[in-house]
Amino acid sequence: MEAWRRSLSDAVSAFPVTKAGPAHIATLKTFDPPLRALEGKRFAGAERRGKRLLFPTDDGALTLLVHLMTAGRLKIIAAGGAAPKQPAFQLEFDDGSKLVLTEAGKKKRAGVWLLTPETAAAELEHLGPEALGLGAERLGVILRGESRRLHTALRDQRVIAGIGRAWANEILHAAKLSPYALTGDLGDEAVGRLAAAMDAELERGLALREQGAWDEKTYRVHRRLGQPCHVCETPIAQIDFEEHTIFYCPTCQTDGRILKDRRLSRLLR
Ligand SMILES: [Zn+2]
Repeated sequence: MEAWRRSLSDAVSAFPVTKAGPAHIATLKTFDPPLRALEGKRFAGAERRGKRLLFPTDDGALTLLVHLMTAGRLKIIAAGGAAPKQPAFQLEFDDGSKLVLTEAGKKKRAGVWLLTPETAAAELEHLGPEALGLGAERLGVILRGESRRLHTALRDQRVIAGIGRAWANEILHAAKLSPYALTGDLGDEAVGRLAAAMDAELERGLALREQGAWDEKTYRVHRRLGQPCHVCETPIAQIDFEEHTIFYCPTCQTDGRILKDRRLSRLLR
C-alpha cells in the first residue's frame, strides 16, 4: 500500500495538471472551487489518511481528496497509453500522462472532492457517512446518538457528509420536519421521511447540476423569504443566525409556529 502510494506520489507531482476532468456527476462531490482551478497547478505528492488519498497542490491552495470506496481504482496511465473511455474522474498532466479513476459496476460510490485548506481540515477531522443513499436505518442510529437541533446536525459534516445549509433547508421542508426538532426525539416514521427526503432532494440537486441548470433558482425554500411555499402557499419564514439563515414553511414544518431567533438565549449554546 505504501509503495503504491509512493509511486502515485512521484507520478502526480512530476508535471503540472493541464486538463482537469471529465468527472462523473456522481463522483465529483464539490463544485466550488471548480475543478478547472487545478489546471496549471502541480501536486506536491500523494498522502493517505485511512481510506482517503490526498493530493495537495504545491502552492498549498487546493487539495484533491479521493475516496475509492470498494470498487474504485486509481491509476496512472503513461502518455499514449490506453485510457478508459468513460473514466469516473480524470486528470491530464503536461507530459500527456493521466491520473484515472475508474469504478466497476453501475453504482458510483467512489468520490472526488476539490477542497480549500479550510474545508480540507474540516473534512478530514472526521467525516460522517455520505448523506445520499444513507437509508432510514443508519440515519436513525446516527440521529439518536445526537441530541441537537435537526438543522444543526444535518449540516455537520462529521455527523453526515454532503449536506450544506441550503440543502438542509430543502431537505427538512421536503420531510415536513421542524429545523428545531431534536434529533433524539424523531420516531421511526419521521426518520423514514427524512431519509427519503435526503435522497430525493440531493438527487434533484445532482440532476439539475447534470443538466447545467443548477443555480439559486434550484432552491424551493432556501433564500425564499416571504415567497409562497410551493406546497401550501404559506409565505416562507426565516430564522437568522450569525453565520447562516434557516428558511422553513411554518405550515408544512412547524404546525404554524413561528420559530424564534434565540441567539441571546443560553438554550442555543
Ligand atoms: Zn408549506
